[in-house]
Amino acid sequence: MKKIQGNNLLISNLCNMKKSGRTAHTVLFYGEKGTGKKLMAEFYTNLLMCNSPINDMPCGTCSACKNIQAGTHPDVIYVETSGKLGGYSVDTARKICSDAFIKPNNDTSCKVYIFRDCHNMDVRTQNTLLKIIEEPPEYAYFIFTSETKTDFLPTIISRCVCFGVSPCTEKQAENALSESSFNPEDIKKAVKCFHGNIGMCTEYINNEDLRRQVDLTKQLADSIIRKDEYALDTALFTLNKNRNDVRTVLSMLDKLIRDSAVLIQDTKANNIGCFREGAVKLSYILTSRQAEKIHYSIERAWHTVECNVNIPLALSALCAEIIETII
Ligand SMILES: [Zn+2]
Repeated sequence: MKKIQGNNLLISNLCNMKKSGRTAHTVLFYGEKGTGKKLMAEFYTNLLMCNSPINDMPCGTCSACKNIQAGTHPDVIYVETSGKLGGYSVDTARKICSDAFIKPNNDTSCKVYIFRDCHNMDVRTQNTLLKIIEEPPEYAYFIFTSETKTDFLPTIISRCVCFGVSPCTEKQAENALSESSFNPEDIKKAVKCFHGNIGMCTEYINNEDLRRQVDLTKQLADSIIRKDEYALDTALFTLNKNRNDVRTVLSMLDKLIRDSAVLIQDTKANNIGCFREGAVKLSYILTSRQAEKIHYSIERAWHTVECNVNIPLALSALCAEIIETII
C-alpha cells in the first residue's frame, strides 16, 4: 500500500471511526493540490473494505486491499467527470443515486463512490446527490475530494465529515522523494518551491510545464516588484491560452503575495509560496493593505477564469487592478 506522509492525526481519526464502528458514510477530504487527498480517499476505502486489518489499519495484502490499489475493485466506483471543465453532470448524479440501491458484489458489504476534484460540481448536481447522502443505504459510502469546502453547498457540507489534508514537513517530503529515486539536486529545487507538498514536488521534477509555470510566476512577481505594467501585462498575456495554466500560476502568485503579507509582520516567517526571495522583496515594497488588495484581485480573477469567462479579459482586469494598487 502506498505510504502516507504526515497527517498522523487524520489517519488516527479515520482508524478510530472504524474501530468504534462509526464510519462516516459521507466524507470530504479537502486541501491544496498535491497534498494527497486522493491517497487519503483510497486509504479510507481500504479501511472500510479490508478483510483482515492489522492494528486497526488496512493490511494492504488481502484481496480487497489489492483490488482497491489496482483500481479493479468492483464496488469502488470512481465517478467520471464530463465536459470541458471536468464537472460532474446531473445525469451522472442520477445514475449514482439509482446505482447506490444495488447491493455490493463482494463479501465486504461496502460500496464506495469516490468523487475526485469536485471544484466544478454544480449546484444542480449537488442537489441531486443530496437525497442519497441524507439517507444512504447502510453499505454505501461517498467520498469527495476538493481544494476547499466552499466548493460545496452548506446542505452537503452539513452532511459530510470534513477532513483537511495538510502538506507534510520538508524533511518528510525529501525522504519520500528520495525513496522514489529522484536526483538529490532536483529534490532540493522541488522542495524549495513546494515545501512539504509531495504531489507538487513530484510534478515539479517530472513535468516541464510546471517548471515553466513556476518561472512565469517568478516573472510576474518581478514585474510587480519593479512596478512594470508592460512586463506584467506581457507575462500575463503568455498565459491566456490555457485555463489550467492560469489557475496554477494565479494560485502560485497568490501564495507569494500572502507570503509577503506575513513577511511584512515577521521577517523570519516560513513561506508557503515557490519564491522566497521574491516574497521578501515584495514585503519591502507593499503595505499590508496593498498585499490584501492584490490577494483579492487575484482571487477574483481566479474565480472569473473558473466560471468559463473570457480569459484575456479577466487577466487584463487583473493587471490593471494590481498596477492601480501599487502605483
Ligand atoms: Zn486488507
